[in-house]
Amino acid sequence: MIFNTFGNRFGNRPLIRRHRHIRPDWRQPVNEAQKKAFKEDLQYRVEHWRIIMGETPIRWTIRNMKSQWGNCRPQTRQLTFNMQLALLDNSLRDYIIVHELSHLQVPNHGPQFKARMDMFLPDWRTRRKLLREYVIHILNP
Ligand SMILES: [Zn+2]
Repeated sequence: MIFNTFGNRFGNRPLIRRHRHIRPDWRQPVNEAQKKAFKEDLQYRVEHWRIIMGETPIRWTIRNMKSQWGNCRPQTRQLTFNMQLALLDNSLRDYIIVHELSHLQVPNHGPQFKARMDMFLPDWRTRRKLLREYVIHILNP
């Protein structure tokens, strides 16, 4: 799973703890057209990565979540994505999709997980950094 600002972790590392007192009102409104476009995009994008990564079919949903960008339950092969991803560009969406799909094989963020990320998304660390900057921008407009 990927915690956003209001989780206490991002991957294995502490994330912007100094902002934890700010409540989730940081969330930006997502309009109906953005929601629709996002859902259509994920239908393509999740399936694309699932096949590349050699995974059997999964179930996924989009929800408003306060503390995570995405979530994976390997036991039920259920992935959840935060509606706020509708406001991020494709590069960051792909990072979160590949991250959550990787959890189907590796439940933690250890060396095996990182190896899997390196294999399928070699520049994932750069994307993670951009995602952090996105959060900081939202909190300090
Ligand atoms: Zn994770």
